[in-house]
Amino acid sequence: MAPEPILLTPGPLTTQLRTRQAMLRDWGSRDPGFIALTAELRQRLLDVAKGQGSHAAVPLQGSGTFIVEAAIATLIAPGDKLLVLCNGAYGERMVTIARRMGRQVEALSWPEDRVVEPARVAEALRGDPAVTHVALVHCETTTGILNPLPEIAAAVAGAGRHLLLDAMSSFGALPVDLATQPVAAVLASSNKCLEGVPGIGFALVREEMLAARKGNSPSVSLDLEAQWRGFESNGQWRFTPPVQVVAALVEALRLLEAEGGPEARRARYANNLRVLLAGMRRMGFDLYLDEAVQAPIIATFRSPEGFGFRRFYDALAERGFLIYPGKLTQAESFRIGCIGALGQGDFERLLAAVEEVRASA
Ligand SMILES: *Cc1c(COP(=O)(O)O)cnc(C)c1O
Repeated sequence: MAPEPILLTPGPLTTQLRTRQAMLRDWGSRDPGFIALTAELRQRLLDVAKGQGSHAAVPLQGSGTFIVEAAIATLIAPGDKLLVLCNGAYGERMVTIARRMGRQVEALSWPEDRVVEPARVAEALRGDPAVTHVALVHCETTTGILNPLPEIAAAVAGAGRHLLLDAMSSFGALPVDLATQPVAAVLASSNKCLEGVPGIGFALVREEMLAARKGNSPSVSLDLEAQWRGFESNGQWRFTPPVQVVAALVEALRLLEAEGGPEARRARYANNLRVLLAGMRRMGFDLYLDEAVQAPIIATFRSPEGFGFRRFYDALAERGFLIYPGKLTQAESFRIGCIGALGQGDFERLLAAVEEVRASA
């Protein structure tokens, strides 16, 4: 078998060996041992965002989109109206999901290279009293842009509305503090900054908001209230849980704690980004975003004149590095992630490989 690749992607991403080793046993899903593991998982997820006592952690089988869909289905009632703040593909996807669910939804949009502006959000909320909930993407993975969460959370709370936060690509590295920030629901998944393997999405939701939404979801399986009640009554998942993925995620959360928590992880990713940007700039690659709004998650580079992504991708893959295609609607680009169980040395080796590939082109 070929050596394992270094994944420079927004997930699934490079995981620690210990996380993968945690999957090497079987678990009975109704057994007390697994029920205890699930309880530890839910506890640790709340700890990451300081949500103890206010929010409930509800994990669900599936990728990140499944939890976004479950949250919109469960939390938005037919009489509610959702305003989605869009500056990339993941905001657009929330609009699509809400529409498909038959919920009232509207988008407030910005160009892909601009952050969501709190003043415009406040103005839109003043102008439309029908809006009950607002959805924001914390780090828009489309470009890697960081939206100003504290200011937007304050604007939404100031207008008396509820904020749903897609923190899929930031949770575990960029701070979300539910003890001080007014966020009704945070959505994320196992395989991004938590450095677990793919297969679980989860929501941290204000308990009273969940309790008020019994029977609201039009879906049987994508129902956070029903799964929350299940966990509270017998500690079990309603449907077959991905037991090995749960074990790996608990191990990944223990490793996050051992690393020093989200702050230490953010610092490691920020250093990865710093090394990456300096090296790519030296070779003449332009960062798509203004560096002031760039999150230390994933960097988008403009494709140089006459650049062939496929050839570049294949040559780097041959050297053990898997990068990511661009997702911009406006410009030709490619992306390189800074997240995962990677450090400065991995990025120095990547840069040497890029240099070699460019020299031989
Ligand atoms: C990854 C991601 C998702 C979910 O994508 P999946 O492919 O379903 O895991 C949603 N929002 C953002 C911002 C993401 O980065």
